[in-house]
Amino acid sequence: ADTERDTLRKKLPEWVETSRKLSASGKVAQYIPELAGAPAGALGITILGPGPGDLLQAGDVGCRFTMQSISKVFTLLLALMDRGEDGVFAKVGMEPTGDDFNSMLKLELVEPGIPFNPMINAGAITVTSLIEGEDPLTKFDRILAFFRKLSGDPELTYNPRVYKSEALTAHRNRSLAYFLKDNAVLGPDEDVEDILDVYFKHCSIEVDCGHLARLGLVLALDGKDPVDGTQLIPTRYVQIVKTFMFSCGMYNASGEFAIRVGIPAKSGVAGGILAVVPDRYGIGVIGPALNRYGNSTAGVHLLETLSGALDWSLF
Ligand code: GLU
Repeated sequence: ADTERDTLRKKLPEWVETSRKLSASGKVAQYIPELAGAPAGALGITILGPGPGDLLQAGDVGCRFTMQSISKVFTLLLALMDRGEDGVFAKVGMEPTGDDFNSMLKLELVEPGIPFNPMINAGAITVTSLIEGEDPLTKFDRILAFFRKLSGDPELTYNPRVYKSEALTAHRNRSLAYFLKDNAVLGPDEDVEDILDVYFKHCSIEVDCGHLARLGLVLALDGKDPVDGTQLIPTRYVQIVKTFMFSCGMYNASGEFAIRVGIPAKSGVAGGILAVVPDRYGIGVIGPALNRYGNSTAGVHLLETLSGALDWSLF
């Protein structure tokens, strides 16, 4: 482990600069207007381990961005803690789709009409509806409190401009949500606009690579607080979300990522990637230019380089 850390310390800045060049072939997401202004050439990484001084960073680690789909991992954890496995999986499946994250294609085909998995938008909107709280504000407060506890940052909050920008333009997510309502996946008491509001807000929670690395480290440690060892999340639920990250975390490039990198990861359209090296590291990456699957072009290349050099694949 010491030689690995020495290698990382020596090589990380150089690997970041090599991967950064790939940003030129990617494109910053435009469909949420407020995301379009992100710095296309940025690339930053934080790698955090449990030991003192186990922190390695390189590139644009000061860059702030919204979690977007990365938040789905944690809303799933909270829903599992609120409703248990049976409660959650009565409403959402466990299978990868191979379709785009916001696809409407397969919604109607799954028995009994539930979304394929909690990482696609239809599944994540359903999961948001399962989080306890009398009204949308209480629900979101509970989500934010959960993120603050796991990240160790009491100031963590959402970016109101990104939230508003998505809320005003989310015609596709809105139609997915109404379709879920029509199929009774969202129950009679659920107000579609209220659920969407909570969903847009948790997607807009603003972080840097350090936050993602810390959140990832909690998952790497099977739900334990990296500082005091408290069990923050039941191990079984962490196992479930890491499995989803592995099978569906990188959109419809999840299979390729599993082969090339081989660790659980979740990306978001703002260009963030949260990755987990089990028992060892939480990793946060930002690189806003995306490839055609919606994953950070430079970020994926960087993780592939690291995994290849340090033999991180689980298999
Ligand atoms: N808020 C975004 C959406 O629902 C998240 C998408 C993503 O990061 O994949 O469109």
